[in-house]
Amino acid sequence: MTKVVYNAPDASGHFGTFGGKFIPETLIKNASDLEKEYLKAKEDPEFQTTLAGLLRDYVGRPTPLYHARGLSEKLGGASIWLKREDLCHTGAHKINNALGQVLLAKRMGKKRVIAETGAGQHGVATATVCALFDLECIVYMGEEDIRRQAPNVARMKLLGATVRPVTSGTRTLKDATSEAIRDWMNNPEETFYIVGSVIGMHPYPMMVRDFQAIIGRETRRQSIEQMGRLPDVVVACVGGGSNAIGMFFDLLPDARTIELIGVEAAGEGLQGRHAASLTKGDIGVLHGAMMKLLQDEFGQVQEAHSISAGLDYPGVGPEHCYLQRLGLVTYTSATDREAIEALDTLAKTEGIICALESAHAMHYALMRAPMMPKESIIVVNLSGRGDKDMATIMQELKL
Ligand SMILES: *Cc1c(COP(=O)(O)O)cnc(C)c1O
Repeated sequence: MTKVVYNAPDASGHFGTFGGKFIPETLIKNASDLEKEYLKAKEDPEFQTTLAGLLRDYVGRPTPLYHARGLSEKLGGASIWLKREDLCHTGAHKINNALGQVLLAKRMGKKRVIAETGAGQHGVATATVCALFDLECIVYMGEEDIRRQAPNVARMKLLGATVRPVTSGTRTLKDATSEAIRDWMNNPEETFYIVGSVIGMHPYPMMVRDFQAIIGRETRRQSIEQMGRLPDVVVACVGGGSNAIGMFFDLLPDARTIELIGVEAAGEGLQGRHAASLTKGDIGVLHGAMMKLLQDEFGQVQEAHSISAGLDYPGVGPEHCYLQRLGLVTYTSATDREAIEALDTLAKTEGIICALESAHAMHYALMRAPMMPKESIIVVNLSGRGDKDMATIMQELKL
């Protein structure tokens, strides 16, 4: 089978027609300074060695690729393997990227770091790396999310960060991101903006992808070592899309033989409130990039809904829009209910409480495995652990 030759974005930050830099003139210098410094750092062995050392000793990488034997046997089809990003320091894949970006901030001599957060996982990851490197940290978070994610708000504060409540719009991730971009525009010299997913203007979608690509790089190596071959199906949940692209990127050359599946949040169902931008969105611009976006008939960005705060974003990374168009990745969705049930099943069969976000990917594997022959292999990217979601889980499962 022929390998896929894939090379994106182009020099202007476009993934086909998606991506780019739709930003006011006052932000152009920030974005291009960042791009220049990132491209230098990428080729700098000292930067890469420092990053690799911290990923190993501080984050705990490589994360295991775990064979869920009990679950696979129960389902009676394909073997299910879990890429354990839930075991990363701070409980999710977000730290891989936060660490890469904070090293860039240090390199650029910045004193002040800002970030946006939805579920609070990226806020916690950013507060963590800022504590580690003694940098001032300000996290923008929607009021609604602050209410839903109280334990993560306390964590950020404990780590020394300032949490700024955002009261505009739907008071969720979209508005927190707009507020962070506004801050960056007003404080261009001393501030570094650590974006939490593969969204925003160029170079963020490319840079965040590169920092998360370690997930797929390890999975490729571990699959060969532990299974003797690459998997048949690889599945990840898609909010902004960073854990999914991190898993898929190094597997893309084999996308003709590995089925790559991204699972969006279908919320209450695709006819009701949801966050499935790739499945149901139209092309538009949000936070500096062209992407597929939930909008009303007048092009106004619509409120997204998911039981998991981390998937509750009305847009999706431009690279996913491009991969969908190229047919290299297939995108589907899971509802709130399906995610909760998958989380419950995984907890009871494997003793692993995953994040509500990851449970969307888990649902797909639970559906698919029984339909596949015994010798086939599914890898699920378990993007995070469920501690932060206990309040929601207690309510939904009446515990
Ligand atoms: C933030 C988050 C997500 C969604 O973000 P992506 O950029 O799509 O990966 C998924 N899972 C967990 C555990 C998260 O914290």
